[in-house]
Amino acid sequence: MPHPSALSASVHRAVLDALAVVFPVSCAGCDVPDRDLCESCRQTLIPAPTMRRLPSGLEVRSGLLFEGEAARVLRAFKEDGRTSLARPLAVALEAAWPVGIDAVPVPVPASGPSLRRRGYAPVELVSRRAGWRPHRLLRVTRHTADQRMLAKDERAANLAGAMAVRPGAHRRSGGLPVVLVDDVVTTGATLEEAARALRAAGITVHGAVTVAATPRRRRSEDSS
Ligand SMILES: [Zn+2]
Repeated sequence: MPHPSALSASVHRAVLDALAVVFPVSCAGCDVPDRDLCESCRQTLIPAPTMRRLPSGLEVRSGLLFEGEAARVLRAFKEDGRTSLARPLAVALEAAWPVGIDAVPVPVPASGPSLRRRGYAPVELVSRRAGWRPHRLLRVTRHTADQRMLAKDERAANLAGAMAVRPGAHRRSGGLPVVLVDDVVTTGATLEEAARALRAAGITVHGAVTVAATPRRRRSEDSS
């Protein structure tokens, strides 16, 4: 199917209607039938960038708050294999990129088991939909406990030393600084570990961008 932007809105809708007959779907945000993403939920994905600074000083910019319909859409994209949601979510990711920065986007790596379970790497996919070329400079070196099961102070300990750079990472970054990319920031422990591994290899980390940030009042709810 051609990219929707190449079609008029009415043709686009007709295609969606036809597809809904063949592949019944419901909106990822609100379950209304026959739409992968309804117009009302699409509106909740309009970027409203925020910035927070982690304890290490790392600046994290996020396109959305991880709440309501936007959180449901992001979960459906990450957990239910609904890869068509990458494009609308990429709009939020793009909006989080720091203005005027020439840097290499580096996705936070998914662990082996989650990659095998899903069959795709959500962060890389949404980065590509944002028009970026993600550089796989990081790898997971050991299995860690699910961050969601841990208290805030346990999360950093759980992740310490859990990532390393891949061979040739410094050369592959082309001497440019990097910007880390992840789906959701909660405590920021995952991003801090990723930044630590890159800096240990002599790579400058300019900051991080995420599709969404957990609202501060409910930080412990999801992700890492
Ligand atoms: Zn909806």
